[in-house]
Amino acid sequence: MGARYAVFGHPVAHSLSPRIHAEFARQVGIAMEYVAIDATAEDFAAAISSFAAVGGLGANVTLPHKERALALCAHASERARRAGAANTLIREGNEWIGDNTDGIGLVHDLTERRRLDLRGRRVLLLGAGGAARGVAPALLDAGIAELWIVNRTADKADALSDALGEPDRVHTRYPADLPDIGAFDMIINATSAGRDSGGLALPFSLAGTRCLAVDLSYGEAAISFLAWAGAAGCEHRFDGLGMLVEQAAESFARWHGQRPDTDPVFAMLSAKADALQTAD
Ligand code: NDP
Repeated sequence: MGARYAVFGHPVAHSLSPRIHAEFARQVGIAMEYVAIDATAEDFAAAISSFAAVGGLGANVTLPHKERALALCAHASERARRAGAANTLIREGNEWIGDNTDGIGLVHDLTERRRLDLRGRRVLLLGAGGAARGVAPALLDAGIAELWIVNRTADKADALSDALGEPDRVHTRYPADLPDIGAFDMIINATSAGRDSGGLALPFSLAGTRCLAVDLSYGEAAISFLAWAGAAGCEHRFDGLGMLVEQAAESFARWHGQRPDTDPVFAMLSAKADALQTAD
């Protein structure tokens, strides 16, 4: 039995992370176990302790535990602290160290895989939950010109804006203001509306010329936003599968000191997703 790793979430059975990390481990020749552990909010802290007690060395954390995960950490990276959430835990001695690889995962996917330049873009971020908090600092670091945050619960958009501490570049608006805030070069759907409901009602006026639209969800959950983006004339449209593989690679690098090649894993998962859609 190799070293132990896991992804914690609720629900988590659908997670692609065990398959992604198994492929990375095979690629670099590391023996490791990586399993999905379902834990409710009440059980999360105890589940993490039990995992440490049986030799767990690292964990990914997904919805809805990322904030809770950060709170359990003795130390955290600057990007995890800025996000207020951890998606990666690293065991050092008797302590957990927290990191957040979501933002760099998105930026890598867009700049390295898709070869897009994010600098100077006027960006609309829909949502202010864990994923939005993870990607916002990384987008600012990547050189975007403006970040407009719009969330159903306005207080959370304001809290994210305050935490980012860049009043010149970061602005918030109510969803009702969407028809009046102009056109964007990049629109990111960081809500879970596509999973839980019929999606978002967005005006086409949001899409500027050569607009890039990204849904952080993937598969069926991304369909309604990406269909809207197509109808609105967005030039580039991507779901969150590339980000998922890239954030996993960053976590893997934190644990094992080597960054795997993400291209074959992304190609494998994309081919599977296409086959599933064709089969529908
Ligand atoms: P959270 O539960 O933390 O946040 C959900 C967000 O969606 C909140 O802003 C919430 O608004 C908003 N929302 C939910 N339902 C609706 C609705 N019907 N209308 C408008 N807004 C809505 O989830 P996460 O931020 O962790 O995840 C968001 C999405 O990103 C998920 O689909 C997840 O799968 C994806 N994701 C993808 C990753 C990747 O690697 N590709 C990584 C992380 C997440 P409110 O505040 O008002 O509740």
